[in-house]
Amino acid sequence: MQIINNPAEMQKTAESLRLKHQFIAVVMTMGALHEGHLSLIRLAKEKAGTVILTIFVNPRQFSPEEDFHRYPRSFEKDAAMAKAAGVDYLFAPDTALMYAEDSQTQVSTGDIASRFEGAARPGHFNGMATVVLKLMLISKAHLAVFGEKDAQQLAVIKRMVQDLNIDITIVSAPIVREPDGLATSSRNIYLSSEERKQATVLYKSICRAAELVKQQITDSEKIIQEVTSVIESAPDAKIDYASIVDSVNFTETTLLKTGVDYLLVLAVKIGRTRLIDNGRLRI
Ligand code: AMP
Repeated sequence: MQIINNPAEMQKTAESLRLKHQFIAVVMTMGALHEGHLSLIRLAKEKAGTVILTIFVNPRQFSPEEDFHRYPRSFEKDAAMAKAAGVDYLFAPDTALMYAEDSQTQVSTGDIASRFEGAARPGHFNGMATVVLKLMLISKAHLAVFGEKDAQQLAVIKRMVQDLNIDITIVSAPIVREPDGLATSSRNIYLSSEERKQATVLYKSICRAAELVKQQITDSEKIIQEVTSVIESAPDAKIDYASIVDSVNFTETTLLKTGVDYLLVLAVKIGRTRLIDNGRLRI
């Protein structure tokens, strides 16, 4: 596995891979690798001859009050995991090389990005989309794998690829969960052991919603009421949002229609840690 820190060098390497007719997949992460990330790498390896893993804690997608400085960083361990998983190139760019001091262009995301995570984290999706586009251009990948864990991010990226005619295939990977159902996340380490136990209410509420849909309950308000009561059974849980949306445009729905894919999207604070999760619902 080759480690590259310089965007120009990564781009040159990617170009020579393309000239050798290599099919390139990219997996983009902020590091602190876990099973969720590894599942994306495995999927990328199934689909492509060359896998580029990017590790970059992107300052532009954190707002000033968020956890950019506190975000877990474990490069040596990540590099060992990436190598063991069969990554060919680990691209971990220097921030100064990614963003020149006088850089002034960014991606402006639209309606899908305006709600939920977009409303809770102003500027987040523009910052995310900008770095994703840069990493697509630098890696020259034919295919990119993203996790369904960040469902709204996935929807924003799919829309960007469509709107800007980006020549890349987007593949999504299912959510990886701990044995008790909590979605694997780099931020789970912020939870105290008591909070970690309480954090299982997110997945429990997703299962409850799926059960109700199986019983042909189509009224979103009723489903959300039950979801809320499951989550609020945890004393330190505070719901930021809990909504049922269509999975492409992220518009809220009041009545679930047959044959349409919906998502129950959740953002819940357990103590000081904000967790997001989602589950697919289909009548
Ligand atoms: P992050 O490092 O948190 O920015 O995530 C990098 C990529 O890994 C994104 O595409 C995430 O959706 C994906 N990812 C993170 N956690 C999980 C998980 N538990 N299951 C599947 N994909 C995940």
